[in-house]
Amino acid sequence: MSERFFIEPPISGERAILSGSEVHHLAGVMRAKIGDEITLFDGSGCEFTGQIASLKKDRCELTILERREFSREPQLAIVAGVALPKGDRQKWLVEKLTELGVTELVPLLTTRGVVQPGENAASRLRRGVIEASKQCGRNVLMEIGAAVAANEWFATVPAANRRFLADPAGEPLTVSNFRSGAGPVYFAVGPEGGFTEAEVTAAKNAGWESVSVGKSILRIETAAIALAAACIALAKNGNESID
Ligand code: SAH
Repeated sequence: MSERFFIEPPISGERAILSGSEVHHLAGVMRAKIGDEITLFDGSGCEFTGQIASLKKDRCELTILERREFSREPQLAIVAGVALPKGDRQKWLVEKLTELGVTELVPLLTTRGVVQPGENAASRLRRGVIEASKQCGRNVLMEIGAAVAANEWFATVPAANRRFLADPAGEPLTVSNFRSGAGPVYFAVGPEGGFTEAEVTAAKNAGWESVSVGKSILRIETAAIALAAACIALAKNGNESID
C-alpha cells in the first residue's frame, strides 16, 4: 500500500495504535484488512512498516515490523514568518512550505494582517502539515510556531542568523547577500497590504535585510514559497549540501 499513515504519539515499541480519521481512511477508503502492511511515520524522522493486527471502525492495532531512519530534510533550516493569508490560500501555503522542507512556520501578527490566528488555527495548520507530509514523504513535521507580533519577532530572532524581510522593493536575493552560514535562515513575509513603515523600520533597526524575489507584487503565499525555494537553491550554490 503506497499510502503513508501518521501516528501519534511517537512509536517506541513493537505495537502502535492508529486512531481517528487515519483509521477511517485505512479501513473505509483503502479497504485494508488484518495482515496488510502499511507505512507509518510519527514525525520523529523515522519511517515504519506496520502490520495490521486488529482493525475496528476507529482503532487499528499494528505490529511494528521495521523501523527505518529516513530523513528527507534539507540541510538548511528555514524559519518562515508569514502574515497568514485566508482560507484556501493558507492551506496551499502550508502544503507547499511543508513539501519544500521548511523547518518552521511562524504566523506573524501585523498591523494590516487580516488573519489573527487563534488556538484553532494552530491545529488546523498542523493538520495541513500532516496531510502534506503523508503525501510528500517528509518524516519530520514542519513546526507551527506560536503566533507573534512582527515587531517582536524582528527584535527577538538572534542577529547571528541570516534574516530577510521580503519586500518587492528590496535588493534582489542573490548569492552575495544570501551568504553562507551555520544557523537557520529566517525570512518574513507581510500581509496583502504590505508591512507598515513602522514594521519595516523595526526590522531594519534590528538588522534585517530587505530582499526581493522579482519585481512583481506577489501574493503572500507566492512570496513565501519563492523565498523558501530561493534560499534552498542559494544554499546549494554555496555548497550547504541540500539532498
Ligand atoms: N501592497 C504591498 C504588497 C504586499 S504583497 C506592497 O506594495 O508592498 C504581500 C507580501 O509579500 C509583502 O509584504 C512582501 O513581504 C511579499 N512580497 C510580495 N512581492 C514580493 C517580491 N517581489 N519580492 C519579495 N517579497 C514580496
